[in-house]
Amino acid sequence: MDKLILTQEINCQYCYKCLRNCPVKAIRFNKGKSSVIDDDCVYCGTCIEICPQHARIYRTDVEDLEKYIDKPFLISIAPSFFAHFDQPFKVITFLRKLGATYIQETSLGADMVSFYYKKYVNLRKGKTSISTACPVVYELAEKYYPEVIPYLLPFLSPMNVHALYMKKYFGDFPVIYLGPCIAKKKDGENYVDLILTFEELDIFIKKNNIDIDSFEESFPNAPFPERARIYPISGGINSTLDGNWENHLVVEGVDNIIRLFEKINNYGEGFFVEASACFGGCINGPAIRKDLTLLEKRRRIISYTEKMKSLEGEVINWEDIDLNIRKRFEPQKKVIDIPEEKIKAVLREMGKDNPKKELNCGACGYATCRDKSIAVILGKAEKEMCITYLLDKVSSVSNAIIENFPSIVIIYKDNTLLYLNPFGEKFFEDKSPLLDYVLEEIESGKNPLEILIDDKRYVFFIKTFILPDQSGKVSLLIDITGEKEKEEELNLLKKESMEKIEEVINRQMLLAQEIASLLGESIAETKSYFAKFKEFLKKENADL
Ligand code: SF4
Ligand code: SF4
Ligand code: SF4
Repeated sequence: MDKLILTQEINCQYCYKCLRNCPVKAIRFNKGKSSVIDDDCVYCGTCIEICPQHARIYRTDVEDLEKYIDKPFLISIAPSFFAHFDQPFKVITFLRKLGATYIQETSLGADMVSFYYKKYVNLRKGKTSISTACPVVYELAEKYYPEVIPYLLPFLSPMNVHALYMKKYFGDFPVIYLGPCIAKKKDGENYVDLILTFEELDIFIKKNNIDIDSFEESFPNAPFPERARIYPISGGINSTLDGNWENHLVVEGVDNIIRLFEKINNYGEGFFVEASACFGGCINGPAIRKDLTLLEKRRRIISYTEKMKSLEGEVINWEDIDLNIRKRFEPQKKVIDIPEEKIKAVLREMGKDNPKKELNCGACGYATCRDKSIAVILGKAEKEMCITYLLDKVSSVSNAIIENFPSIVIIYKDNTLLYLNPFGEKFFEDKSPLLDYVLEEIESGKNPLEILIDDKRYVFFIKTFILPDQSGKVSLLIDITGEKEKEEELNLLKKESMEKIEEVINRQMLLAQEIASLLGESIAETKSYFAKFKEFLKKENADL
């Protein structure tokens, strides 16, 4: 399958906000390119939601919808569908018109999952169990915390269970799932034919100018779910399990799940943990509308649950349903074994040659300088992502430039000298009154500035910059004495040439007048040309 989280390189501004917020640091920044590392990613979608430049996106599969239209296909709609669409029952009719043979609520699959959760938890007799309906939870366990795999409930997600159910009972037709989740695109790769987010369906509706308002309302097909319509809201899974509420926990957000995994042994036994990557549950998934508050979406789910209660249908006895919904979780944690000396070497290269210099500021996206060094060794990060390293590097480069600058550099404030570069020190050696005079002249705006030292004349072109926050001024004094002398020599030469030319012209005119008077001809025209030429030469001279 193609990569799920993509990067629009042109939009990325290298601000590292995505990396700072990625719970597992699955983003590579290397040689001016940034990309998500598929093997390390848990598909939580945080980087997509957080990027201010919209540089991270998920793979969109909406074009594939065309392939299924006009042939029999089945649709499984996640319960948060009713939180996303303003007129969900009209959207259902539209989907039927598109060719969907059966449209069912994914919650039916969730009912089956809850049935087996309960059974399994009872069988385990008080052992702590963690729900696995959210794929991010098991991705995190498999890739980073394999030690918690024994706590995971070993069942497929409701989406996959429902896809198996639909194919078994409605015919082996393609199943299209509509949901709020990006991770489900990975989760369903072997069970669901096409997984679209609500956002993608919105795009399809808009692109095809579909007027949803013009459709009648219709309901999903029976059989209907019994209890699990509440799955996408906080505590929803727990509410489908009858048990001791004191031992039911809800853990939301990837960081909190990580904390749970890290401290699982401290929880003791006998807990049931409903874990979901999104705060507030799937109604706050990464691909659901964000213009409604969590509370509004929650209310929509509750009112839809009430409305659907009026629909009567058979209640499925899940014992009678012959589907294999077991899932085996496999440890996939990468073993990273880097010699300590190598890590220390990178830390040293970043200027962190003692622990005090390890600021652990997190600006680069990594929690500690050590983590950052490991990422550099693994080719996931660059040393330059460390802001203090970069500042040191930039300031040492700029210091080197100023120190070796072949002109005078003066930094001053209120006529008080703050810094003079080595070139300037040499020039003003033992001449501090002269330096004071120069500062005054610079402040008065004199440019170019002429200085006489031991009968030798210097001419400087001055460029002054104001430092940020009015912390002083920097003046560059560029020695243009040579250029000035050449210019003056040239001007003198031009002036002398002018005078010579004028003299020659005057002589020629006199001669011409004499010849003309001898020949008796008018020389008025010739005279006028000579006069114009003379004027032109005078003007040229004046410009010099
Ligand atoms: S958040 Fe990440 S993807 Fe977005 S601009 Fe910043 S570095 Fe690039
Ligand atoms: S989807 Fe989540 S895990 Fe993957 S790179 Fe983005 S923030 Fe990290
Ligand atoms: S909480 Fe729901 S929407 Fe969010 S990642 Fe998990 S399954 Fe997807």
